[in-house]
Amino acid sequence: MHELAVTESILEISLRAAQPQNARRITKIFLRIGQWSSIVDDSIQFHWDTISEGTIASGALLHFERIPTQLLCLDCAHPYQPTSDELLCPRCGSARIHVTRGDEFQVDSIEIEND
Ligand SMILES: [Zn+2]
Repeated sequence: MHELAVTESILEISLRAAQPQNARRITKIFLRIGQWSSIVDDSIQFHWDTISEGTIASGALLHFERIPTQLLCLDCAHPYQPTSDELLCPRCGSARIHVTRGDEFQVDSIEIEND
């Protein structure tokens, strides 16, 4: 259900971006997804094929780029990438951490065809 809402917003953003370009078709959509985002690529593609039907984005190829998670220690200000089994700050062992990258989801760019 969550993925359906996300897929609808991808379609909306893409159509809005394509309109002022007089696009005949949207051929590719480049998406950036954080490594920690709960969104599943396959599920988006599945919804996409259904909801894009009948729009200029129908049949567009979705390209996913996964962004690695980056954390910042709030105690010693050390930025680091967590390993799969260790989230604590590798410098001071603190558990007070902030996610600076890797939980985002965005439409990075689109490719269109004009007449
Ligand atoms: Zn630290």
